[in-house]
Amino acid sequence: MTAKSTKSLVLLGGGKPAAPARAGRVWLVGAGPGDPDLLTIKALKALSAADVVVHDGLVSDEILALAPAMARRISVAKRKSRHSYAQDEINRMLVAFAQDGLQVVRLKGGDPFIFGRGGEELEACRAAGVECLVAPGVTAALAASAAAGAPLTHRGAAQAVTFVTGHAAKGAEPDLDWEHLARANHTVVIYMGVSTAGPIAGRLMDAGRDPATPALIVENASRADEARIVTTLGDLASAAAGLAGPALLIVGEAMALAQASTPMIADLVSTAQAARA
Ligand code: SAH
Repeated sequence: MTAKSTKSLVLLGGGKPAAPARAGRVWLVGAGPGDPDLLTIKALKALSAADVVVHDGLVSDEILALAPAMARRISVAKRKSRHSYAQDEINRMLVAFAQDGLQVVRLKGGDPFIFGRGGEELEACRAAGVECLVAPGVTAALAASAAAGAPLTHRGAAQAVTFVTGHAAKGAEPDLDWEHLARANHTVVIYMGVSTAGPIAGRLMDAGRDPATPALIVENASRADEARIVTTLGDLASAAAGLAGPALLIVGEAMALAQASTPMIADLVSTAQAARA
């Protein structure tokens, strides 16, 4: 008797309960800043194989449409009026779906590990013995600086770049090394900083950063409604006032290269197509 037929006999004998056809797992997928063209091929592959997609509010419908039509889509976006999911509820949901044998995609704006709480979801999966894989995403800072033509590092003007949050847990002011952030020739990118732009700019200037340091604000980076404001550290708070969409504040000498209006890639492609037609 061959090895193959022995195996079939064991299966037919029904000794052990059948294992799930495939193991469930969680993919933490970065959806990028909005433009579906900025999705990675790895993210697209994970999305195409999803049974369930658990997504937050920053993910566009266009990207969600890339999951199979049959895949269940669950929004865990923070909402003012309806129930918002607490982080531990999201963690439990991801683990439970994977333990049911499902391919779970946890789809997050930008990169899952940049101010995205992906680390907590990864730890929850590890604690439960659930396989968790990560598809990195283009974080908002990269899209914002690319669109404005303003490099985050630049020879002679920015030897380092630091990503900071404008909000710490429970709305407290972030505990940052302001002396370090205030050093010249250093780009500081502030996520979640629109409502705290005044105090943050104040801290940087108090620590010695020149109020004339160039600054850039990009709202809705990479989306059709992207808006850019070229300003200075001294005017950062007034420039940020009233912004409604997700926005980044970027401060540093290299932001002198920022252009308030440059055509988006999509516009360039359509112009080129029109020219060829
Ligand atoms: N994981 C995300 C960041 C989540 S924190 C990433 O890697 O990009 C949410 C903050 O990200 C927002 O408050 C805003 O500061 C920034 N952000 C996210 N998407 C953005 C976009 N398209 N344009 C500008 N800022 C964005």
